[in-house]
Amino acid sequence: MKHLFASSLLLSLCLASCQEKAKEEVTETKEPETSKVIVHEEYTGTEPTKPEETEFYEPKVPVVGPATSGKIPNDAIVLFDGSSLDAWVHSRDSTSAKWHLNGDGSMTVADKTGNIQTKQNFGDVQLHIEWRSPAEVQRDGQNRGNSGVFLNGLYEVQVLDNNDNDTYVNGQVGSIYKQRAPLAMASVPTGEWNSYDIIYHAPEFNEDGGKIKSGTMTVIHNGVLIHDHIEIKGTTPYIGWPKNPPHGKGPLLLQDHGDNSRVSYRNIWVREL
Ligand code: MG
Repeated sequence: MKHLFASSLLLSLCLASCQEKAKEEVTETKEPETSKVIVHEEYTGTEPTKPEETEFYEPKVPVVGPATSGKIPNDAIVLFDGSSLDAWVHSRDSTSAKWHLNGDGSMTVADKTGNIQTKQNFGDVQLHIEWRSPAEVQRDGQNRGNSGVFLNGLYEVQVLDNNDNDTYVNGQVGSIYKQRAPLAMASVPTGEWNSYDIIYHAPEFNEDGGKIKSGTMTVIHNGVLIHDHIEIKGTTPYIGWPKNPPHGKGPLLLQDHGDNSRVSYRNIWVREL
């Protein structure tokens, strides 16, 4: 009997110890709170609520400052401010970018030097970029002031001097090239500065490389919404249909269209989302 009592006591102590250990393990494996966004639970009861019950003070929203009048949010990564091309390399051989650095805070495509891209790779971003077609008009259609802003190095938002210059609508200024015409044409006169503000979410792929979620793009051209959270079908080639190679983060790429288009860029910054 004494022996049975001792065994039971030992078993109870062991169980208690195991339970404590299990609790510790649960505590240890608890997911860290990494999300910046807190979604407050909605009230689903029928009782009337007081105003203060639906007012939340935490967590505080980060103060980043405005992105107007040439200002840049303090959490933005500056990719080009006119001082150097240090953040950029040529896409074909990763050598230093050889586009022209101008004295007015801009850079211009150097004839046939090739595309340039950021050294840093990005996934989801908010991108601000300004561009200008050369004031001296040359050629027509796709050969007039053609360049492009490629998100993830793969998905082109078309840059083109479309003023009095018709072309296919899914290749006009602001189009997702050969994939989606813009909702509106909002260019300033040729030779003046345009802005694009782009919100890009990258596509997602499974382990086998299959796309499980399309990327999306929202584009504002000179303050006008021209793409409203559209689904990206895939890459934006000149010839052929969109393809969906699996990828992770990638560079932001600016196009040298190869025909002396001489498009200029300035004030380029991104916020990682
Ligand atoms: Mg282009």
